[in-house]
Amino acid sequence: MQQLGTKCVQAGYRPENGEPRQVPIIQSTTFRYESSAAMGKLFDLEAAGYFYTRLQNPTCDIVAAKIAALEGGTAGMLTSSGQAANFFSIFNLCSAGDHVVASSAIYGGTYNLFAVTMKRMGIDFTFVRPDATEDELHAAFQPNTRAMFGESIANPALDILDFELFAKVAHEHGVPLVVDNTFPTPVNCRPFEFGVDIVTHSTTKYMDGHGTQVGGAIVDSGNFDWFAHKDKYPGLTTPDESYHGIVYAEKFGQGGAFITKCVAQLMRDFGSSPAPQNAFLLNLGLESLHLRMKRHCENGQAMAEFLESHDKVAWVNYPGLKSNKYYALAQKYMPNGTCGVVSFGVKGGREAAERFMSGLKIAAIATHVADARTCVLHPANATHRQLSDEELVKCGVGPDLIRLSCGIEDAADLIADVDQALANV
Ligand SMILES: *Cc1c(COP(=O)(O)O)cnc(C)c1O
Repeated sequence: MQQLGTKCVQAGYRPENGEPRQVPIIQSTTFRYESSAAMGKLFDLEAAGYFYTRLQNPTCDIVAAKIAALEGGTAGMLTSSGQAANFFSIFNLCSAGDHVVASSAIYGGTYNLFAVTMKRMGIDFTFVRPDATEDELHAAFQPNTRAMFGESIANPALDILDFELFAKVAHEHGVPLVVDNTFPTPVNCRPFEFGVDIVTHSTTKYMDGHGTQVGGAIVDSGNFDWFAHKDKYPGLTTPDESYHGIVYAEKFGQGGAFITKCVAQLMRDFGSSPAPQNAFLLNLGLESLHLRMKRHCENGQAMAEFLESHDKVAWVNYPGLKSNKYYALAQKYMPNGTCGVVSFGVKGGREAAERFMSGLKIAAIATHVADARTCVLHPANATHRQLSDEELVKCGVGPDLIRLSCGIEDAADLIADVDQALANV
């Protein structure tokens, strides 16, 4: 089996004799067939092939196959955003009247998708703390629970999910565990090795790494036995009348059913399709993911240690610090490093944070993380601007919190920039 670095560079595409070395961008909405009988087979899911890029496109499939290989999954697909990936991953398992248990330490956009928008679709969510005890996790389940959801490293709280505990509880209730693995990427963490069943990504972040495209991905481990829980997942285990009565888990097996249904039904109906050009750009990012993640982690670690020793800094949150609550879990699940995002508080609260931000010269103020270029955000003044100081503290994003996403520049320059900005506080 190939190592991860080789997969980052080569997985998903192997040109035949005389074919282009780089992944071709198939910039075509449609594909020609010799007979309508041949095309009919595709529409019936009787044959594999392309007919319309809303459903599938060769460039996108090559890149999805690379991400599936990196995660060690059986099937994968790209979506037009991380939001679409998380929506599809849950909606592929649930209908109105169903219920999901989700960690409360998740990306704000995902929280809103679940707690507001999907709730309006009739799907209920119970949120549990990522550090909940086994008993507390069990207590969140209901007879109509169909999935459990969490983030490997929560954005922006940086809590580490205890995969083995969450997977154990999910499986005792006969439901799959879905995990958003955006922050560590498969280079630093492969959730399938710890019992996770389905992985999602915002490929907008480290996987792209250069701020060029918004995208998402879903990968199936192929480990969840849909037929063992037939009553819970009729969408996978009973005939789909919109495809002449095929049964996904029968026709495509345990390894292919989830993704095939997700493409055939959700991509068909919601159309959150990635552009082939974007898949190409994403693939360029993936080719250096293993090199960049190493540097992001080195810079994050050096920055966190520097901040921890600085007398103008009130607190530092980085799972690579020995003092961190999640240090042991990070060592267990991501021994080679976590990510480049560090959050910290400047003594003096909101005003001190504002002065610090305006003094930075290398780190750019941007609503983005996980980019080759260092970027920084003061949530109290941006994403969480509508909240009062008290509300900010309640949701774990205090008025002094600064989220610093260390890029792949030289650590010494990044630290010098932060040091001179702190001098102005
Ligand atoms: C950014 C992000 C998302 C949303 O992804 P988009 O590509 O912006 O739609 C989901 N999960 C996590 C952890 C993220 O950081």
